[in-house]
Amino acid sequence: MIDKVLIANRGEIALRILRASREMGVQTVAVHSTADADAMHVRLADESICIGPAAAKDSYLNTHALLSAAAISNADAIHPGYGFLSENADFAAMVEEHGFTFIGPTPEHIRLMGDKIAAKRAVADAGIPVVPGSDGEVTSLDDARAIAEGIGYPVLVKAAAGGGGRGMKVAQSAAEIDDSFRFARAEAEKAFGDGAVYLEKFLARPRHIEVQVLADHHGNVVHLGERDCSLQRRHQKLLEEAPSPALNGAERQRIGETVTEAMRAIGYRSVGTIEFLYEDGEFYFIEMNTRLQVEHPVTEMICGLDLVREMIRVAGGAPLGFDQDAVKFNGHAIECRINAENPDTFAPSPGRIGDYHAPGGLGVRVDSALYSGYAVPPHYDSMIAKLIVHGTNRNECLMRLRRSLAEYVIDGVETSIPLHQRLMGAADFVNGDYDIHWLEAFVRRNTGDT
Ligand code: ADP
Repeated sequence: MIDKVLIANRGEIALRILRASREMGVQTVAVHSTADADAMHVRLADESICIGPAAAKDSYLNTHALLSAAAISNADAIHPGYGFLSENADFAAMVEEHGFTFIGPTPEHIRLMGDKIAAKRAVADAGIPVVPGSDGEVTSLDDARAIAEGIGYPVLVKAAAGGGGRGMKVAQSAAEIDDSFRFARAEAEKAFGDGAVYLEKFLARPRHIEVQVLADHHGNVVHLGERDCSLQRRHQKLLEEAPSPALNGAERQRIGETVTEAMRAIGYRSVGTIEFLYEDGEFYFIEMNTRLQVEHPVTEMICGLDLVREMIRVAGGAPLGFDQDAVKFNGHAIECRINAENPDTFAPSPGRIGDYHAPGGLGVRVDSALYSGYAVPPHYDSMIAKLIVHGTNRNECLMRLRRSLAEYVIDGVETSIPLHQRLMGAADFVNGDYDIHWLEAFVRRNTGDT
């Protein structure tokens, strides 16, 4: 049983965790940097503790300050949210060593999935389809040439330590493999201090489709369907939807069952997301995220489940209260990420919020820590709100989303709302006909930037 949880995060996700905790009767401890003293999660928590100056490395990433805060406040568990320390295996281990419950997977699973080569091997052994490629690290140019011939061009050279799309380079043909190999290694070395790379077949027009899983400590695993997150710019997701307009029921069931079996085989627990590229009816694993994701609400809206509550319950040792047959998918949900940034140039736009009015009504959910008078600090991620809309079908969802975007007033900073509004009028988007490259081309057409 968990009675008091320390929330090691900020912004909308800190509020999200606080709300689930309060509904369960669990006490909450907020932590904050000096820049976040006036933040909503601090105002609403039962207790709050300042853990350091504005820079994240001194506050939200400061493991010693976080553990001290947990000890001082007598918390019995720590929820890491997403970003910051959520996928740091050493932190998860420290939390447990100090006698607190880490509300997430085991440190071993976090570590395994953080190493892309090891992760790919482990999930392939557990029956998950992966992108064809080299068997592990490729260390020499000669090997790279031979393996690329075997896979067939185009190929992608990827960093084993990868993240944020860095250390990745395509070779369209044999003429490019030498340069791509050298480039990816050098960039990986620079970005991650680890030059290890591997090769994969480069998929030309895939969609990004990810499967949500939930597992307890007793071997029970369910999947909660998929999310389509193909609308990305510079590998950052902008809009997510569930179910994917590209999948049929049989494909959904097949990939869901495959993933569930694999997670059972590796003994996974808590929430997790298995990310795939999907092309011509085939799924290809790219990575697993061992944490709660930004876009988890679209799954909640179609399943009628509270994922954060389930995370807290299973971390406290409770068994899942339902099985796969009890998971029913209902209607369609879309999430728009709203960032404080210029909708054309994407330059960050921190500042003080003037008038603020969030949309409401049937099927509309806003996850945000904004309020009128709040100053969006320049130190952190620019996402300030998530607008999540549910409808009985995709068309009703789009109608409601257009209406909600038009109602949303956020004065004082520039936001991505105008970009979302343009998207709602794009025929390809309305038809669900898009891949992972579509959004960048759409943005280029709209800004005249070529
Ligand atoms: P990172 O950890 O750097 O985010 P991922 O493996 O998740 O790396 O890949 C990031 C993005 O790069 C994917 O969302 C996809 O857009 C693209 N990508 C990755 N692997 C491939 C591939 N084999 N073919 C085509 N695109 C790919």
